[in-house]
Amino acid sequence: MAGSVLSPGSNGAIGAAAGELLARLFPICRSITGEGVRETLAILREHAPWRIEEYRTGTRVYDWTVPREWVVRDAWIADATGRRIIDFRRNNLHLVGYSIPVRARMTFQELRPHLHSLPAMPDAVPYRTSYYAESWGFCLSERQLATLDPHGVYEVVIDSELKDGALTVADCVLPGVSGREFLISTYCCHPSMANDNLSGLIVSTLLLRELARRPRLRHTWRFVMLPETIGAISYLAHHEPEMRNVAGGFVVATCGGPGRFGVKESFLVNHLIDRAVSIAFRDAGIEPLRYAFAPNGSDERQYSAPAFRIPVTTISKDKYYEYDFYHTSLDDLDFVTGHALADSLALYSAAIDVIEENRVLRSCNPHGEPQLGRRGLYPQIGGALHQSPAGDNRPCVENEVDLISWIMFLADGKHDLVDMAERSAGRFADIVAVARKLEQHELLEEVAKDAAESPLAAS
Ligand code: ZN
Repeated sequence: MAGSVLSPGSNGAIGAAAGELLARLFPICRSITGEGVRETLAILREHAPWRIEEYRTGTRVYDWTVPREWVVRDAWIADATGRRIIDFRRNNLHLVGYSIPVRARMTFQELRPHLHSLPAMPDAVPYRTSYYAESWGFCLSERQLATLDPHGVYEVVIDSELKDGALTVADCVLPGVSGREFLISTYCCHPSMANDNLSGLIVSTLLLRELARRPRLRHTWRFVMLPETIGAISYLAHHEPEMRNVAGGFVVATCGGPGRFGVKESFLVNHLIDRAVSIAFRDAGIEPLRYAFAPNGSDERQYSAPAFRIPVTTISKDKYYEYDFYHTSLDDLDFVTGHALADSLALYSAAIDVIEENRVLRSCNPHGEPQLGRRGLYPQIGGALHQSPAGDNRPCVENEVDLISWIMFLADGKHDLVDMAERSAGRFADIVAVARKLEQHELLEEVAKDAAESPLAAS
């Protein structure tokens, strides 16, 4: 379970790397298409082996069509003196995403329907887009709006273009030996906001880097990074046979805030990925907020759709929809830190470890208890393993013998290590270590739980 324990100092280097990426990626103007996405992916490719794929404008993808590519060079509103009072170059959230080109002088009254602000958050610039209805607009803080002259005339320039081009996605498939495949997906279409979703881009990239360095993977891990909705639908349409085979996955989103961890459950509620995430949190001593599955949120809407039915969960830290700064300019580099990203990375990594290490075992000595003493397995290691934290009223696994008892008791070829960790309340890493020892003593052997679903023979 390397890298999976949250402790001060253990994630210092990763937190620093994540912080550097945050600072580099934050200013880039990303959208569902365009150079901002390509520039972002080029930076992330310095850290992990992302592979780029592009789908041309006009390509039919199920019920959708790949849109034209958005090019934006500059945009501003200037007052009568020519002074830029709203400037895209200062903050790309000022321009409504996918705004069509405009070059005009207009009265405040003509301009007003194109201005978006948040009266309840007077210092925040909101994030707005208009991908599929040709439109234009500016976002500004309520305070900025108050400084505009209702009788004034303004110069409005949007130096943009909608052209035939492509939609850019990235993926990387790390092959495993089991024949089972899991998905880690994140979205790269949001401009300058740190939690939504630079956090997802950075945590996914560092996870990919970590898994790519492992000498051996039990399962295949498919990483994808794409614009939300249209990107996921486009990717599914271009990879349908492989995606129909994915057993479960994660959408990595909004995981870098200062607030509490949260978990959005999969539509299956108690799938292996849900249980792996629960064990990861339990073993880290963290109680996350729980969010029931709903067909909203991010790209689980696509991955869990009837044709694919991939159960998808999300570990968040200040989940989308839930934090005050969501979809505003206040979701910035003061709100998200590299260390919060490192903590989220550790939890994702721990959940992946549970999935990677999980196996089904069968006792080679099923007719009662094995005699541990003659194998040197009893009883010298009391207290060597972790105990339940104070105040935790789950059954306390005090020593290795208790874990041996649970594992041997459940090792009927039907229970896996996740079952054993749940029933015994033992830490998953301890269950893995003790099970390995029992295999060495030829008290356990590995079996396929369901040969068709989980061909574990190769492991
Ligand atoms: Zn969002």
